[in-house]
Amino acid sequence: DLSRISRALLSVSDKTGLVEFARALAARGVTLVSTGGTHRALTEAGLPVTEVSDLTGFPEMMDGRVKTLHPGVHGGLLAIRDNPEHQAAMLAHGIAAIDLLVVNLYPFEATLAAGKPAADCIENIDIGGPAMIRAAAKNHEDVAVVVDVADYATVLADLDVHDGAVTRATRRRLAQKAYARTASYDAAIATWLAGEIEAAPESQTFRALGGTLAQGLRYGENPHMKAAFYRTAGAPRPGVATARQLQGKELSYNNLNDTDAAYEAVSEFDPARKAAVVIVKHANPCGVAEGASLVEAYERALRCDPVSAFGGIVALNRTLDAEAARKIVEIFTEVIIAPDATEEAVAIVAGKKNLRLLTAGGVADPRAPGQAWRTVAGGFLVQDRDNAVIDDMPLKVVTKRAPTEAELSDLRFAFRVAKHVKSNAIVYAKDGATVGIGAGQMSRVDSSRIAAWKAAEAAKAAGLPESLARGAVVASDAFFPFADGLLAAAEAGATAVIQPGGSMRDDAVIQAADEAGLAMVLTGHRHFRH
Ligand code: 5GP
Repeated sequence: DLSRISRALLSVSDKTGLVEFARALAARGVTLVSTGGTHRALTEAGLPVTEVSDLTGFPEMMDGRVKTLHPGVHGGLLAIRDNPEHQAAMLAHGIAAIDLLVVNLYPFEATLAAGKPAADCIENIDIGGPAMIRAAAKNHEDVAVVVDVADYATVLADLDVHDGAVTRATRRRLAQKAYARTASYDAAIATWLAGEIEAAPESQTFRALGGTLAQGLRYGENPHMKAAFYRTAGAPRPGVATARQLQGKELSYNNLNDTDAAYEAVSEFDPARKAAVVIVKHANPCGVAEGASLVEAYERALRCDPVSAFGGIVALNRTLDAEAARKIVEIFTEVIIAPDATEEAVAIVAGKKNLRLLTAGGVADPRAPGQAWRTVAGGFLVQDRDNAVIDDMPLKVVTKRAPTEAELSDLRFAFRVAKHVKSNAIVYAKDGATVGIGAGQMSRVDSSRIAAWKAAEAAKAAGLPESLARGAVVASDAFFPFADGLLAAAEAGATAVIQPGGSMRDDAVIQAADEAGLAMVLTGHRHFRH
């Protein structure tokens, strides 16, 4: 598990900490080899160091473009130490093993950030550095590679503890960092060049995000914006990126975004328990319901907001069957996505030429870890995907009245949905179906009012005398900062509330709930979604 360090090759643009590190290596009996500028710095400090041209038999040439690109270097980095043929090749060609590579690259990013002309940026694209880094990282079973000044101390600590050797665990960690560095380096160059030549999104490779082009899109969120769809590497989550399109027009940017929202939401509902359907418009659910069958779930989801559902995306958690397909095609729908579809269902959907039908091959695990990215001006944000699930949250009843079993089941349902509604999110639900959704408002009380109003509208559309909010439960994706939002829900007829809690005014909100005769439970988990 240990590999002894006898010879190190140092070639660094950023010479921070270099002399101290090299001195510490020399003191531990390590032979030092380095390139021009690095060699100068080390000799000036009085350290014994050979020039890389001694390994290559070539002078550095072409303004440093060619320094280390030679079998004398790459053979020393890549040779497998316990492979007799590799050893024989080293002997035959006089190649010396390099056990530690220390490289940091020409400062391409800094040159770009300093606003230097294109010719300077080009000259600051390092060629030999990344080649050596990748070689050493590939051969990490035998070689340690350091690309970050911060790891000088890591290596020295290993050498001291392990008698002049670096552990396999350290080498693997360093190799991972090495590839991350060359990937981000090339991504910076590719992104810069893309801007220089105004490349279309689909002609760029977003390597930093690990993306490969899935398809070029006609345009983005708006027709004047170019767009493309990328898949990320690694084990895929069943969903929009893995789905097979069985029929229909080409998917648009908005279709893909909405379909993803719909499928991620419907994946919260275990297909083994009940059928579930989510209808999405503009990335927000406008109807979600469970049912004994898909058609029942669909009809109940549709009832929540039939106006918005027009031109929506329908996601199902079970194999699309003929009955559900027949019902869904009755109104204009953009996309249907399900784990699978029966032959009969496919034939029914085929009657609507433009309607896209996607099969994802399964539902996604809502608890699966992962990352979510979004851009900000000049950068991007990365966070864990929200994989918190209501079933895992210890619920706390805080009101005098505890929710009934039926209320509790609807509270869980409503909170599960609220996770997928843009904040501020307020969701009314009854008998496993949403009856009013308030989304994306800047104040929680506005979302509460909108959700209640939508529940009244849905009742009107269904010819019912009473708002659908009456006797329903309500979920809030974050705490009620004041009692007003909660009172709006009580006034609309809600009987029970679920929310994270944690407000400074929780006591006042709980008191208001008690006075209104509401049952309230706290989840301790927030589901902001912006
Ligand atoms: P030095 O200051 O030692 O002369 O140069 C160090 C820099 O040269 C490091 O950033 C290293 O990545 C880079 N480098 C090493 N070998 C080569 C090569 O063959 N070609 C190019 N373009 N850069 C190299």
